[in-house]
Amino acid sequence: MVVPRFGTQQTRSRGGAPPQQALINFDLTPEDLESYLDEYVIGQREAKAVLSTKICTHFRRVRYMLERGGRFQDAGFVKNNVIMIGPTGVGKTYMVKLLAQKLGVPFVKGDATKFSETGYVGGDVEDLIRDLVHEADGDIERAQFGIVYLDEIDKIASSGNLIGPDVSRTGVQRALLKPLEETEVDLRVPHDPISQLEALEHYRRTGQKKRRTINTRYVLFVVSGAFSGLEEIIKKRLHKQGLGFMAEVSSKNEADVNYLRFVKTEDLIEYGFESEFVGRLPVITVFDPLTVDELYEILCNPNSSVIVNKKRDFRAYGINLVFEDEALKLLAIQAEKEKTGARALVRVIERALIPFEKRLPSLRVRFLVVTKELIEDPQGMLATFEANPHDPSWEARYQKALEEETKRIKKFIKERQKKLWRGKGIKLTPERMELAIALHRRDDFDLHQALEELFILMRQVKNYERSFERRTGFKVAFSDEAMDLILKHIIEMDQGVYAYCDRILNLLEYGLRLVNERTGQTLFTIPKEAIEQPDQYLNSLIRHTYSGKKS
Ligand code: ADP
Repeated sequence: MVVPRFGTQQTRSRGGAPPQQALINFDLTPEDLESYLDEYVIGQREAKAVLSTKICTHFRRVRYMLERGGRFQDAGFVKNNVIMIGPTGVGKTYMVKLLAQKLGVPFVKGDATKFSETGYVGGDVEDLIRDLVHEADGDIERAQFGIVYLDEIDKIASSGNLIGPDVSRTGVQRALLKPLEETEVDLRVPHDPISQLEALEHYRRTGQKKRRTINTRYVLFVVSGAFSGLEEIIKKRLHKQGLGFMAEVSSKNEADVNYLRFVKTEDLIEYGFESEFVGRLPVITVFDPLTVDELYEILCNPNSSVIVNKKRDFRAYGINLVFEDEALKLLAIQAEKEKTGARALVRVIERALIPFEKRLPSLRVRFLVVTKELIEDPQGMLATFEANPHDPSWEARYQKALEEETKRIKKFIKERQKKLWRGKGIKLTPERMELAIALHRRDDFDLHQALEELFILMRQVKNYERSFERRTGFKVAFSDEAMDLILKHIIEMDQGVYAYCDRILNLLEYGLRLVNERTGQTLFTIPKEAIEQPDQYLNSLIRHTYSGKKS
């Protein structure tokens, strides 16, 4: 087996493409992953902690073994495959996908019900493994460290019935045992004529059989399902055991207790899983239904794809979309009633906005404020809007809604400030926060991308300082205010960092050299004024120097 390239570098193109992971990033810690999830996922605290820890540990152990090679490779490695229990639309797939993205490992998702429908059990999971190779752009080494997500796993719990013509649910579970642990999967599809022809051609040319396989030893499996009926099993067990907390529970409102939290392996066996099957999935984590407040928070999250996507839809017609706070609250209330988690958010937003998405592009308007009234009565509101689309009162509401949005974003950043900025060695000034918000709005970046963009620009300025020192022998350091101004100009003018800094320092270099010759000073802190008015700054620097004071 070839050990993959481990590392932490990220490549990123200017102009909005999401960060591309150049290498598998196995240097991360569970807390790095958890704080990354915190930027995107609302609620689900326990699931976030468990998944970031166990998925991180899985990859760390793989790395540890591979780096040592030899005897360590066979030292009874038990994978941290995971079972996730929870209703639909509450962040199960989202969380695992985010973790795979952050770790730079390929991710594929399949549906366990498909295994039973076709009755073609082994083949299906093998197809998923082959898909991993596809996701890894054909890189088999990288695909071996992928994550396979199997949804609707509860549908293969046995209930004594047969579900396919000849395959029982227990049969499906048994067929999964080997891949969950370790198996070799042939990368050629057995029934695919092209694969067969390729293999024949290879054999004709070389006289040898070409064997291209992938081993699932290091592939992490995450399975999930809603597990309806499991709660009753848990409740029954708890009652039977008559434990202390049952007394505690009955004194509270029973409806508020999520019994799934007390799930144990034996409950899953009772539910219809073979003990060997559950045994290969040692990590269990439970997801909660999303409350109205959490749904509202998802809408307020500047990284939320729900809102970002809708804004992009309208931006495609040159229309800026902004939501009033009251509108978001009402959307959360409407969505909660549908009981499909955050998926309902997309539906309720579409329901209200489709009439506008159809009509506004013909009215040539620049913006739309989504108000509470609009959500309550989209058609009525559209009629009012059409009657007078350029009424100045809309502009006033638009500005107010923008302010509300800015407040929400600032609150989001403040709540996560320490974690977002950890290890970056750079201060988050209020000006930088405004700049990130401007980038977020201008390019419809999610906030994470906007902050990353800002970090990259700041690092480039720092790199420029170093290259200037190498070239001239003087050390320059822009003050915080100067850095903020540089970033502002670069973003406003959409200019390259290097060209911009070069222009500024070319103007200053002559003066700095004079000061250096006169005083021997080699370190210069460049203030904001030097960027605003380089001539005046230089004059005063030289005047001070020649009058005997240092700058
Ligand atoms: P499931 O739990 O059924 O796997 P998903 O994770 O696919 O649901 O959720 C669907 C979408 O809803 C996600 O892509 C994400 O945009 C949003 N979403 C779901 N749960 C959350 C959450 N807890 N926080 C933020 N967004 C969420």
